[in-house]
Amino acid sequence: MNKQIAIYPGSFDPITYGHLDIIERGLEVFGQIIIAVARNSEKKSLFSTAERISLIKEALGSNERVSVETFDGLLVDYVVSRGSRVILRGLRAVSDFEYEFQIAQMNHNLKSEVETLFMMTSVPYGYLSSSIVKEVAGLQGPVESLVPPVIAKALAEKFGKPKTN
Ligand code: ADP
Repeated sequence: MNKQIAIYPGSFDPITYGHLDIIERGLEVFGQIIIAVARNSEKKSLFSTAERISLIKEALGSNERVSVETFDGLLVDYVVSRGSRVILRGLRAVSDFEYEFQIAQMNHNLKSEVETLFMMTSVPYGYLSSSIVKEVAGLQGPVESLVPPVIAKALAEKFGKPKTN
């Protein structure tokens, strides 16, 4: 059995089908994935950290190989503290690259034993992001093809029900 643990960090505000795709495919490679919800200080989030964690758990269902946690401070320290040396990130358009490259290099400088591994998005999710989902939901647009039903429900509670034509 593959015992390698990967840490999948992010804001997950909220989790989308794009994130779930990375998790599902990540489980083909790693024995265990810990979803690490960042307590971002400067990023303004729609859902609180506790809400994001409980929505991720609901969206995932039970899988003993996946867990959800939150972390403060340096990601590389957290990664090592969980017995891992792999940061898993998803890559979408070229526009993700520069930012991800910078962060991955910084993390590698901070702790050289920690590697960031990237998984390319699956084609249907190439333009899917939590921000786009919030924008569509905020305008009462349909989000069913972008997020699991529990997330669509939580968004409707924040923004009001989507319009039906
Ligand atoms: P962050 O604020 O750290 O970017 P996100 O929740 O936006 O947090 O993203 C977490 C990770 O998931 C990032 O590596 C991001 O590139 C990846 N990701 C988000 N949406 C998708 C998607 N549609 N396809 C592939 N990867 C994605």
